[in-house]
Amino acid sequence: MTGSRGAEISIRGLEKSFGLLKAVDNVSIDIPSGEFLALLGPSGSGKSTVLMMLAGFEVPTGGAVLIDGTDCTRLPPQKRNIGMVFQHYSLFPHMTVADNVAFPLKMRGMGRAERRRRAGEALEVVRLGGYGDRMPSQLSGGQRQRVALARAIVYEPRLLLMDEPLSALDKNLREEMQLEIKRLHSELGITVVFVTHDQGEALTMADRIAILRGGRIQQMSPARELYERPANLFAAGFIGEMN
Ligand code: ADP
Ligand code: MG
Repeated sequence: MTGSRGAEISIRGLEKSFGLLKAVDNVSIDIPSGEFLALLGPSGSGKSTVLMMLAGFEVPTGGAVLIDGTDCTRLPPQKRNIGMVFQHYSLFPHMTVADNVAFPLKMRGMGRAERRRRAGEALEVVRLGGYGDRMPSQLSGGQRQRVALARAIVYEPRLLLMDEPLSALDKNLREEMQLEIKRLHSELGITVVFVTHDQGEALTMADRIAILRGGRIQQMSPARELYERPANLFAAGFIGEMN
């Protein structure tokens, strides 16, 4: 962990209700600068909803999100310095790779020459230097996901949020991308919150894992400790399901 380039996050008593359903229920996590945190849990456990509230796409019905000590709970996404990658890398099919990567910079009003330079740098970071002029349809699934990663880091966010970014990829590609994301994390020193339902993936990648069920945190521990000392039967069973 290099520290200073990553945001420090404090999630305090976070709640989100959809009608009668409490999708996220009193979740509190302090994430130090530069940490790689995995949110792990079965489908419907509230992982994406937590991430959406960190990004500002969902407004919490209770609790607060602090980024570097500032209360951001009600701040819109574009006012948070956050990069995001989703499961379905939604690249614009009619734009070149470089234009896709530079898109967030265009949204921020940056000039064309500077956009091109920064997009080129971000593509180098994900090892796709030289691919800027191709179209997304000319790339493999893994390469497209790396373009999505480049787009997420192009404006040098201090926090990177990823929601099951690898679950659409086959096993070999997934393992390659796991290494790629870990390398990126240690190279950039940014804070990462990584959502997955895959126990092995969380254990391989994260410094620390929070297990969610029914919107509540079941256990929060360093990866190794979670395996050796599950806090309760649910955590033990869920980790034990790993193959
Ligand atoms: P996960 O990402 O762990 O699969 P989600 O955060 O997507 O879980 O969902 C948690 C719960 O909240 C689920 O029961 C889901 O159906 C519900 N939910 C999520 N988003 C909405 C929404 N916009 N409206 C109503 N219910 C929702
Ligand atoms: Mg989800």
